[in-house]
Amino acid sequence: MTHLRSPSLHHLGLRPVSLRRFGGTRPARGAFQFPHERPSLELFTRHCESLIHQHGLQELRLQGSARSMECLPDAVRIETAEGRLEARRVVLALGPSCLVWPDWAEEAARAGASVVHAFAPNFDRNSVPQEGELIVVGGGQSAIQLAMELAATRPGRVTLVARHEWRVNDFDFEPMWAESTALRRLNRFRCAKKRRQIVNRARRNGSVAPREYRAFRQMEERGEIHRKVGDAKTCRVTSDGIHLELHNDRDELRGDHVILATGFRRGPAMADWLSSGAERAGLARLPCGSPLVDPLLRWHPRLHVAGALAELEIGPTARNIFGARLAAERLSRVS
Ligand SMILES: Cc1cc2nc3c(=O)[nH]c(=O)nc-3n(C[C@H](O)[C@H](O)[C@H](O)COP(=O)(O)OP(=O)(O)OC[C@H]3O[C@@H](n4cnc5c(N)ncnc54)[C@H](O)[C@@H]3O)c2cc1C
Repeated sequence: MTHLRSPSLHHLGLRPVSLRRFGGTRPARGAFQFPHERPSLELFTRHCESLIHQHGLQELRLQGSARSMECLPDAVRIETAEGRLEARRVVLALGPSCLVWPDWAEEAARAGASVVHAFAPNFDRNSVPQEGELIVVGGGQSAIQLAMELAATRPGRVTLVARHEWRVNDFDFEPMWAESTALRRLNRFRCAKKRRQIVNRARRNGSVAPREYRAFRQMEERGEIHRKVGDAKTCRVTSDGIHLELHNDRDELRGDHVILATGFRRGPAMADWLSSGAERAGLARLPCGSPLVDPLLRWHPRLHVAGALAELEIGPTARNIFGARLAAERLSRVS
């Protein structure tokens, strides 16, 4: 990934033009990419670092892993592996946690085949074996970027397998959701099921940006990379490698290594410690599993949510940087 998929207006600064200004009056070559001024990952990261420094955020940060939550009358208690914390207010901004591992991939990994998930904490692109045939599974932006990166040093030996034909879109949500009118319309629906439907429909999962699509097609024309459309359902592991059977393709695809870029589970997957803490505190969840929160993203007078957990209030951008900004705006109204 060299550039973000989102435009330069989506960043962590307080002013809309913060990232643009940070890039300077004469930005370095490649700092912003056409269209939508997609910022380079390098510039975006430097901007984040400068904000951390400017606002003294490093001093506010404790490193630790939450493993239980207790809602007390005047505080929320979080137990971490590193000790206990109590705070008047807690915001759950946990990000997605549950990776999508298709059944066949789990079975193949259990049988000792080389199958890894690109978002697993221990995945390292640089330790992907140089030799053999690689299969990258996934239809979205991460899959296409990873496949192209790997094919650059393994021309002709990388195949991207997607369940569907190309879905080419600038963003991974419908652009109208970056406008306040769409969100106001969503917030008017009180029915959670309806809201969930709207949010799921507006997410463009499995889509790729036009620039990456064009780059892939060029590599494909030169024979440097391959793509197959098919839903992998079964897989055989033999001494000859991994054999994927694709449902809408009569062929069997053989590879030596499989990398899943199948993303995260939809909906608000909750870790056990959070589910049980919420249950003990009697916090309401909707049929889809989302927490029932108010417009200030309050699940409990002292407990707020952001990210995927806030999806039914913040809309389909909740999982993106733009959604993090929307959540921050709501939270800033809490007195
Ligand atoms: C490859 C890739 C490219 C992307 N590109 C874009 C893009 O161009 N534009 C865009 O808008 N979005 C993009 N996104 C999405 C972007 O990552 C999210 O918008 C953003 O990271 C969401 O921030 P967050 O803080 O909600 O969640 P995260 O960044 O996922 O952070 C969650 C944090 O919670 C921590 N955590 C979880 N459980 C615990 C626990 N029990 N105890 C303590 N800490 C815990 C995690 O360790 C993590 O640090 C991209 C995502 C990926 C994977």
